[in-house]
Amino acid sequence: MTAAPAERSPAIRVRGLEKSYRGHRVLRGVDLDVARGSVFALLGENGAGKTTLVRILATLLPADAGSCLIDGADPMRHPERVRRSISLTGQFAAVDEILTGRENLVLIARLRRAPRPRAVADDMLERFSLADAGGRRVADYSGGMRRRLDLAMSLIGDPAVVLLDEPTTGLDPRARIEVWDSVRALADRGTAVLLTTQYLEEAERLADRAAILHAGRILVEGSLEELRRLVPSPVVEQVEKQPTLEDVFLSLVGPERTGPERTDPESTEESA
Ligand code: ADP
Repeated sequence: MTAAPAERSPAIRVRGLEKSYRGHRVLRGVDLDVARGSVFALLGENGAGKTTLVRILATLLPADAGSCLIDGADPMRHPERVRRSISLTGQFAAVDEILTGRENLVLIARLRRAPRPRAVADDMLERFSLADAGGRRVADYSGGMRRRLDLAMSLIGDPAVVLLDEPTTGLDPRARIEVWDSVRALADRGTAVLLTTQYLEEAERLADRAAILHAGRILVEGSLEELRRLVPSPVVEQVEKQPTLEDVFLSLVGPERTGPERTDPESTEESA
């Protein structure tokens, strides 16, 4: 069977994905599509399986069952093709502190055999609002600047798909906004961005669509508007208040319980 032309199909297509770790079923049949030029937020509690899913998409972990296509290629069968179309950025900025921002970028551009590495570095510094800081050592950068440099480095070669695993964990609010702006700009240029996050505000600010991964499956998926409609709007003094994504999440997944007793009348799945 041949894949649909890569340009028209979603940049990421996942069907029936399953993964267990020594009998512990983490993904139990995950379906997901991420369109080009969009930001898709994958939400879920700690341990829901978000990183596992991202690692499978990034060719770092084999799935047990199901299928994925990244920019038209299967990560299991054609890992080298997938690696050419993705960039994976995590919470731990992989930049070299002793070098300047520009030197870091030139180094990666050379490693990836980009033509005109200096021009590539300057273009990235400009795109990520680091042009003024390009000549400074990374050791002097703020957390937000490092994360933006890390993003810029991972984007050399113009990948069609960017996987961001908790990109703003550990950043202060201002740095977080800087990273959000950079990610939004990426999607606006046509890149498909799959973002995992525990911060519902992050999804709310950034994502075109979002899904909640819970008990190994996608519990709900949709645009933020569609997700908000899942929860009735409370009316307060005749002013209609839109439910936040946090309201949607908590009404579906439930608040974290700390006591020994769980009294969840809706609960159908045992939790680990
Ligand atoms: P999330 O990113 O949503 O926090 P993970 O994908 O990291 O979730 O983990 C999902 C579940 O799988 C957790 O219960 C975690 O303990 C387990 N897990 C993750 N990686 C491994 C591994 N290499 N071996 C065994 N269990 C793992």
